[in-house]
Amino acid sequence: MGYALVNGHVLDGTLDEGGQMAVHDGWAVIVDGDRIAAVGELSTADLVGHEVIDLGGAYVMPGLVNLHAHLPATGKPPKANAKPVDYKRLFDTLSKVPPVLAYFMAMEKGSAKNQLLSGVTTLRTVGGVMDHDGQIRDQVDAGKAVGPRMLVCNTGVSVPGGHFAGSLATEAASPEEAAEHVRQIAATNPDWIKLMITGGVMDASEEGEPGVLRMPPEVVRAACDQAHELGFKVCAHVESPEGVRVALENGVDTIEHGATPDEHILELFRERGAADVCTISPALPYAVMPTSESHAPEIAKANGKVVMDGIIACAKACLAAGIPVGLGTDSGCPFITHYDMWREVYYFAKYCDVTPAFALHTATLVNARILGLEGETGSLEAGKAADLIVCEGNPLEDLTCLRSLRYVMCRGKMTKSPRPRRQPKVDRALDRHL
Ligand SMILES: [Zn+2]
Repeated sequence: MGYALVNGHVLDGTLDEGGQMAVHDGWAVIVDGDRIAAVGELSTADLVGHEVIDLGGAYVMPGLVNLHAHLPATGKPPKANAKPVDYKRLFDTLSKVPPVLAYFMAMEKGSAKNQLLSGVTTLRTVGGVMDHDGQIRDQVDAGKAVGPRMLVCNTGVSVPGGHFAGSLATEAASPEEAAEHVRQIAATNPDWIKLMITGGVMDASEEGEPGVLRMPPEVVRAACDQAHELGFKVCAHVESPEGVRVALENGVDTIEHGATPDEHILELFRERGAADVCTISPALPYAVMPTSESHAPEIAKANGKVVMDGIIACAKACLAAGIPVGLGTDSGCPFITHYDMWREVYYFAKYCDVTPAFALHTATLVNARILGLEGETGSLEAGKAADLIVCEGNPLEDLTCLRSLRYVMCRGKMTKSPRPRRQPKVDRALDRHL
């Protein structure tokens, strides 16, 4: 028996030529198994044999797609005067202790579950512990764990001293090593390959350093060539114009975060058919919170501002140039929980000057297209997977309506009154800067 969702407002995820998302009143959504069987004005005969769910005027739309998450962290912010964590050392120690790895796995599973319960029905993970993300993906697919549809990178590839080197990424010291690491990761059955090309806010020790190019162009080239040869697309952490240029010139398919592009960079995006993945969420706490609240060093605040401005400028320039721009949260970074995709959608509208309709369309169908899944998810259409969410208010009028949901359905599996595990302190801190 499937479901018939009736008496709601249907937002199907698509935009009309005027850039509007129609609100369809009186439409029903019929779900059979894991598929949407029909969407539209249906007769009572169509509902027969289905569990009828009266939406009572609530809004139903496609499930969200989150393009950027790290499962092995919860987003819990640092304490005041906390020493910066030496992730490499931490992971060096942890990865030798099986019980700790089991603990990690449980925590990572909780992260995936939280994503689903907050309305994310498709998740791309972009850097994790060994092959844990892939194991969780497979358990979810087998019905043995709760989570969204997952596309995973497993661990990433960095360079000695580079971003997340030794923790969420391996260290490749030469083009040959990079190609070898890609082959090793490919053997763990990932969906994408992740490269760490520039530095990040958290590991920068000088002002202006977050975007410093760490991975030499020939290493980027070797990793991308090997990945493409094996049939994988490549996403890359990049936070400076030089980094974006090197990434695109050497084969990267999605630029994660981004930086202010010039005409040449926009041309490279077009030539490669690459997409920009906008992630305002991780930069915002550094950039807008006083350090008394973020507990970040002054240097991170300055760098956070540089990165946030670059991310916004990159997204806006790409949008203006007709280059695809997707959205991801960078869940796991300080203040970025696994249930706040709605915030990234909200920030996108607020900071990149797009309408709520365009932001919602981006978080659903555009993101699905970037993953090559537009035939499977991202809009409410007969034949696609039954990935949908229901919220009380109209997100086209107020995107914060997405923050709590009445239903989440992923591949036809329904969760009623989904309640992600929240971190009230983080919620309060971020709400002050909406
Ligand atoms: Zn990230």
